[in-house]
Amino acid sequence: MLYDAAIVGTGPAGLSAATVLEARGKNIIWFGPEEMSSKIEKAEKISNYPGLGIITGYELNEQFRAHIKELGIEITNKFVTKISNFGGHFTLLADNEMYEAKTVLLASGIAVAKGFEGEKEHLGRGVSYCATCDGMFYKGKTLAVYCGDKNFLPEVSYLANIAEKVYMFSPDGQLAVPENKVEKLGGRLAKILGENRVEAVELSNGDQIAVDGVFVLRNAIPPEELLPGLELDGPHVAVNRQLHTNIDGCFAAGDNTGRPYQIAKAVGEGNVAAHEILEYLAKIDHSLQPKRL
Ligand SMILES: Cc1cc2nc3c(=O)[nH]c(=O)nc-3n(C[C@H](O)[C@H](O)[C@H](O)COP(=O)(O)OP(=O)(O)OC[C@H]3O[C@@H](n4cnc5c(N)ncnc54)[C@H](O)[C@@H]3O)c2cc1C
Repeated sequence: MLYDAAIVGTGPAGLSAATVLEARGKNIIWFGPEEMSSKIEKAEKISNYPGLGIITGYELNEQFRAHIKELGIEITNKFVTKISNFGGHFTLLADNEMYEAKTVLLASGIAVAKGFEGEKEHLGRGVSYCATCDGMFYKGKTLAVYCGDKNFLPEVSYLANIAEKVYMFSPDGQLAVPENKVEKLGGRLAKILGENRVEAVELSNGDQIAVDGVFVLRNAIPPEELLPGLELDGPHVAVNRQLHTNIDGCFAAGDNTGRPYQIAKAVGEGNVAAHEILEYLAKIDHSLQPKRL
């Protein structure tokens, strides 16, 4: 099915856009955790969102969840690992399934996780964020995998079925190892090493393990990795005032477009982006109509 819009992110920016697009009868697919924004959930006290007085982050997230339930909007509880632009439509890879949409809204927030030492330098040279996209290059090889969340365990299994050996790291060392071929390492992943390509990983105790590649599976993929060709403005997605990115049909809203990192800004931008998506869809759908002579 070709969706009108794919929304990536279930924080306030994504929610705001989803309500507009749903109200206008658009056929949307909305990716992200059903629990919605983990950032908001962590906020002890929110006092700057108009009309709500002082509220805890948990209470606000509860209200967001109740809101979409009331409107009957569904969340696809999946994490998007790759978006490809086919100049007219997009494909999105999420949990090994492919989805197609005419437009994309990046409402994925801003990553708080600091990358590992050597991660950025080796990106595309042995470091990957997407098991399904790059796993097949490691047939019979040795891999290190950082599994940042239990949701990524199926991807670790997928890699274990391709590679000869997989060393798995997780944030607290608590995640269960899904396959025999996977060796769980208790220490922290400290560095990714290699001259031109990845050659080894270093643990927090200084031990080094030779590997051919490193998969970093965490709940935050830099937007330019998610959608190749996307222009950045420093650490943020470059957008104009209408929230258009440099890629036709792709819009961005919320924390990922820049400071201030605030709920009200995210909600406002989600709303503007949704209206821009409506205009864009009207334009492309009109151009597909047969011309009257
Ligand atoms: C502790 C704390 C307290 C705060 N207090 C306040 C406050 O009092 N007032 C205020 O205005 N702001 C506050 N903020 C900031 C506020 O939470 C953010 O500005 C707001 O949540 C941004 O909304 P967003 O939709 O852009 O991103 P987020 O809320 O970060 O949501 C992004 C969503 O995208 C999902 N996602 C990311 N990548 C993918 C992917 N590839 N596939 C699918 N889903 C994906 C994430 O899981 C998440 O659900 C606080 C933040 C923190 C951390």
